[in-house]
Amino acid sequence: MEDFETLLARSVEHHGHLCPGQVIGVRMAMLGCRLIGIEDPFKDINKLIVFVEIDRCASDAIAVTTGVKLGRRSLKFVDNGIMAASFFNLETRQAYRISATENSRDLAKKYAPHILDIRERQLHAYGMMPTSELFKIEEVKIDLQNLDMPGPTKRKVVCEKCGETVRDGKEILSDSRVYCRPCAGDTYFLPLRT
Ligand SMILES: [Zn+2]
Ligand SMILES: [Zn+2]
Repeated sequence: MEDFETLLARSVEHHGHLCPGQVIGVRMAMLGCRLIGIEDPFKDINKLIVFVEIDRCASDAIAVTTGVKLGRRSLKFVDNGIMAASFFNLETRQAYRISATENSRDLAKKYAPHILDIRERQLHAYGMMPTSELFKIEEVKIDLQNLDMPGPTKRKVVCEKCGETVRDGKEILSDSRVYCRPCAGDTYFLPLRT
């Protein structure tokens, strides 16, 4: 894997700005890959699945540093609102979940007391803080369903209400009828015209 500074620069370029989230995300990704025995994620991209649990800055850094992609099904977004990510080696089945500790925010003062601006201080401190203070690390078991694996679509059904094709087993069965999630009521949108 390349060094921290190189990876951070690439991540900043992709994300659009330098922020504490980039520092956290790059460090998280480097650590996560190392923990599951992946030296170079770009070489071992077919072995790596990453779950991110928040749609904020650090998740971009994790994706850029590891090379996982939503469109390749190697990046999974689980909308937990938690600054955490899990790194899963498909070959060895090893997985680690890493989360950013809440007290790392307070600790920023200890590591960079000379910097008064909070954002600047976090940027600096998160770069130098020991892993054990910045992150909580736990080994976990991940049971990735066959339908959630990368590769060609393994299952396609048609919603009995709207006729949309639903892939990868995401359909809902209700009263022995097959629906897409929106038709089953699990929806983020409402049609303006009916
Ligand atoms: Zn950012
Ligand atoms: Zn439908």
